[in-house]
Amino acid sequence: MAVLHVTKYGEPILRQKLKPVNFEELAPRLPQLLKDMEETCLAVHGVGLAANQIGLDLRLAVILIPTSEEENAPLKRYVIINPEILEKHGEKVEEEGCLSLPGLWAEVKRATDVTIQYIDENGTPQVKRARGLLAKAFQHEVDHLDGKLFIDLVDPTLKPEVKKVIKKLRPKWD
Ligand SMILES: [Zn+2]
Repeated sequence: MAVLHVTKYGEPILRQKLKPVNFEELAPRLPQLLKDMEETCLAVHGVGLAANQIGLDLRLAVILIPTSEEENAPLKRYVIINPEILEKHGEKVEEEGCLSLPGLWAEVKRATDVTIQYIDENGTPQVKRARGLLAKAFQHEVDHLDGKLFIDLVDPTLKPEVKKVIKKLRPKWD
């Protein structure tokens, strides 16, 4: 297993719309890839990691989410391949961050309830309805696969401030 380099804001692959995964083709290297992505996500205390955050052009993301609100609750892993959001409901403004913009937190508006379709790590199609943190994570990761970042969703009046903070943080990124 390996902790991989996480791409940071400014690297072009984060702005790329990623290519659909051919499951059969990826299957032989998928278990190792998922292990590495999970280990990387844990090492940097993330909730999710998209393939372009480790430099890969694949519509694939891993989400690691606590099973309850208790401290040290076990994590549940979701592997979403070629995901598509089918339905979105509700709206909530909440603070969000991203492993590709470490140290930056900003309020963004997301749907509170989403239905998502994807292929899981066994190649099985899934449809899942999610609320709360999982709904937020699904939207954040699907955005990554489309080359979007959470700062794109920040209220336009706050964007100059976000830019300033990024400028300050950037030298600290590798
Ligand atoms: Zn992110």
